Amino acid sequence: MTSVNEDIQWGKVLICGNTSWDNIKRKTKTDSGEEIPKLLGPNLVRELIDIKVTQAITGPNACHSVIISQDGETWVFGRNEKGQLGLGDILAQDYPINVRTNKNNENLFGDEKFITAAVGRNHTMLVAESGNVYAAGDNKCGQLGVPEFKNYTNFLKVPGLGKEKVIQAACGAEFTLLLTESGLVYSFGSQEYGQLGNGVTGEYLKSAGRLMSQPQPYPSPIQHIKKIKVVSIASGTNHSLALDDEGFVYSWGFGGYGRLGHSEQKDLYVPTAISAFAGHVRTTRATAITCGATCSMAVDGVKQLLLWGKWKNTGDGSSGQPWMHPRYLHDLNGWDIHDISAGNQSLFAVARKEKTTIAWGQVQNAELGFGEDGGPLSSTKPQKVEPLEGVETISVSAGVGHTLFLVKPDDKIVPELPKWPAGPEVDENCMHCHKQDNEEKLLLCDKCDASVHTYCAVPPLDEIPEGEWYCDVCHPPSKDAGNKKGARNKRKGGQDNEETSEKNNKKKRGN
Ligand SMILES: [Zn+2]
Ligand SMILES: [Zn+2]
Repeated sequence: MTSVNEDIQWGKVLICGNTSWDNIKRKTKTDSGEEIPKLLGPNLVRELIDIKVTQAITGPNACHSVIISQDGETWVFGRNEKGQLGLGDILAQDYPINVRTNKNNENLFGDEKFITAAVGRNHTMLVAESGNVYAAGDNKCGQLGVPEFKNYTNFLKVPGLGKEKVIQAACGAEFTLLLTESGLVYSFGSQEYGQLGNGVTGEYLKSAGRLMSQPQPYPSPIQHIKKIKVVSIASGTNHSLALDDEGFVYSWGFGGYGRLGHSEQKDLYVPTAISAFAGHVRTTRATAITCGATCSMAVDGVKQLLLWGKWKNTGDGSSGQPWMHPRYLHDLNGWDIHDISAGNQSLFAVARKEKTTIAWGQVQNAELGFGEDGGPLSSTKPQKVEPLEGVETISVSAGVGHTLFLVKPDDKIVPELPKWPAGPEVDENCMHCHKQDNEEKLLLCDKCDASVHTYCAVPPLDEIPEGEWYCDVCHPPSKDAGNKKGARNKRKGGQDNEETSEKNNKKKRGN
């Protein structure tokens, strides 16, 4: 969760953990009995390497992710059993694919540009610059904001928001919150623990003393916080936090293990201010919030991190000894914490000035990203993510079994990181003349790793260019050249390439 009022920054997406989307938390071995491989350290997401990404989003209940670029394009990947990727089917998508590849979405979105997104266990919310919101996936509990309780495998436009312009979304496992520009919070979906903050649980007596909860499929504003201006929202599995413009933090929903921060385990049906952030001194109030599945985190006015709820499985902070109210994490004293994220079991803090990313949690999928070089797979104490030492992390988003990092490009550390997927053995011959002579003139494509002579490149180059370079298959010349001179002759080639890459995407989905 990035704090507000910061200039939009872009970066490159890194991923670590388990990318066997349908197997996360289910199977640890492949059908042939081998351990399912995991990415032990941060890997550059190859498909997105040449994209200026502003948001890389997953969530504490999600095995799927959403990527948003500076120009408002959106990619999705991961588990898709309820159609949560909005691709028109329920097949897992191994690697990022543009949501507009699905023509239904293309027709629905028109020229919408997306600014942010949120993901629940089996649903996805996309927020457009216009303030419109689009949803896909499981609507069993009305978490998409429409009253027909079924799966939607194509995106739909969330109705009922009137003139309100939505600027942020948060998804619990089976409910949704939307924050508007005016500071209102809308909620819909499952409400059996009071997750919707509207004072009720929707409980009714079904039969023979069996209590059922009626979901709430219509977005409606949370009355209890209507008079304050909320600036940020976050949701765990069944609880939520809201941060207002004065630094007060409100919590509601399921209260197990102290995750609401009020020193008791009671469920709260309306947003309630947490006393730890309600003091007179502004520096003790919050500047950023986030929720893990069963815990909560905040950053105070002097950039120190507070944590509460159940954030590990054994010892202090576990279900036996949950942290019932916000507490400072002493290992992180003195760090200037800029961004925080909590996943299903993983926790992250970013100290941007120090160019350090810190992770901890009792995890099974290498989602802390400590790396190949003998780093631990799991750690109950905060530790540096060594492969990212010296890298400026813009934000972290932690999910179920995997983690996304958005990092500023540099010319030393980031380009040397491994790429995901690893890709086939690279042909060291030039992709155009198929020769390996004039080695000093051979360029490597930063996306596909292909070799090309400077003089065979399209268009040809006089010398090895500085910084990143992409071959003409990854970047068909027509895309870059635009209306520039010479583009006309190459346009046909460019189109052919685009068609080919679309075909490839389709082929991948079929497999
Ligand atoms: Zn050549
Ligand atoms: Zn290439």
